[in-house]
Amino acid sequence: MKKNYAVVTLGCQMNVHDGERISGVLESAGWREASLKDADAVIFLTCCVRGSAERRFYGRLSSLKPLKDRKGILIAVGGCLAQKEGLRLLERAPYVDLVFGTQQYPRIAELLARAAEGATCATGMDGLHLDNIPVKRKEDFRAWITITHGCDNFCSYCVVPFVRGREASRPAPEILAEASRQVEGGAREIVLLGQNVNSYRRREEGASRFVDLLRQVGSAFPGVWIRFITSHPRDFDESVIRAIADTPNVCEYVHLPLQSGSDRILAAMNRGYTRAAYLRKAESLRSSLKGVVLSTDIIVGFPGEREEDFLATLEMVESCRFDAAFTFIYNPRPGTAAARLPDDVTPEEKHARMERLLHVTRRLTAESLRSRVGGEEVVLVEGESFRDPACWRARTRGNQVVHFPREEQDIAGKFARVAITACGSWCLHGRLLEVLG
Ligand code: SF4
Repeated sequence: MKKNYAVVTLGCQMNVHDGERISGVLESAGWREASLKDADAVIFLTCCVRGSAERRFYGRLSSLKPLKDRKGILIAVGGCLAQKEGLRLLERAPYVDLVFGTQQYPRIAELLARAAEGATCATGMDGLHLDNIPVKRKEDFRAWITITHGCDNFCSYCVVPFVRGREASRPAPEILAEASRQVEGGAREIVLLGQNVNSYRRREEGASRFVDLLRQVGSAFPGVWIRFITSHPRDFDESVIRAIADTPNVCEYVHLPLQSGSDRILAAMNRGYTRAAYLRKAESLRSSLKGVVLSTDIIVGFPGEREEDFLATLEMVESCRFDAAFTFIYNPRPGTAAARLPDDVTPEEKHARMERLLHVTRRLTAESLRSRVGGEEVVLVEGESFRDPACWRARTRGNQVVHFPREEQDIAGKFARVAITACGSWCLHGRLLEVLG
């Protein structure tokens, strides 16, 4: 069997990072990455968090059927939808050779070999062991490191606990060893990754809480920026804010999903916090961390959301002055608690509320970017700008994108000081002042 593979990733950062591990495992088994048209195996990593992602996936999957008929390629489907559907996916798309679940990807090379002999389905959830699983980074200078996998929160709208299993925290020495390998391999930024990083718990080691791990990673790699995602407002507390303030290389960027500004809806979502508690944390972040960038997720049109609930969300968005917001229209996911509630906000109303919300969040993002103009930022240069090869693309400590003119010198992967001279709707523009190394 020839060994060229392509990975097609849909969905969240967790899937993107799973794709990096799949590439790592396959390449250590002699496979090579190729374009879709040259691949002998195409591996989809699917998402089922929203119905639209599911529909998009089936569209892309069926577009590969002619390639399969012509070249006999292997088609593998992994990720959340594969975990949820299992054998049903093989019945619906009989040209698929392999369905593998969210805890099976370390075995991908062996599973592809089995699938070459006949259709295979592997969706067991007996635990995920990531120690010594190779990773092929997709980004030159940023390394994503899983610290927890799975989720125990059971937010009423979310399928993640069902498709990624119960929450488990990786041993701190394993995380530090992986970070060390990534830094030796050229990473200048580490992102600690989990569905809810704040509930990281290890009683076995001295570092038993997320905040201890954050401090440990920060002090172990002083020349490397450290970020983390995603935080849960119920578990995010003052100790994390203090750790960010005290650890110079932990960046002042926090993604704290609000979801709704109405206490009634937050309770129906099973989020475990109130708007007042969230607001206290947002205010503390703003007052303790100069220049912090705060981003969020918001769902509109959750079952039972009335006009006054939505107005409470708008008011919270204004009070928290989010620098960036990822907004979603609710749609029920089968098997979740919320799917049993009447989906009683009409599609027209959901879209109208979304428009009103976007009007506010876009204004706040523009204000946040404008407030940086005239100042200076330390940035990590990621590479050439996607849109304009005459510019570098870089990110501030607050995770905001900056473009600035390229000069002769190759400074990709270096930290630099830039003057912020202007802004667009989503990014900053600047001028290089100094390369910091
Ligand atoms: S915290 Fe809630 S929304 Fe996030 S993955 Fe867990 S159940 Fe889903």
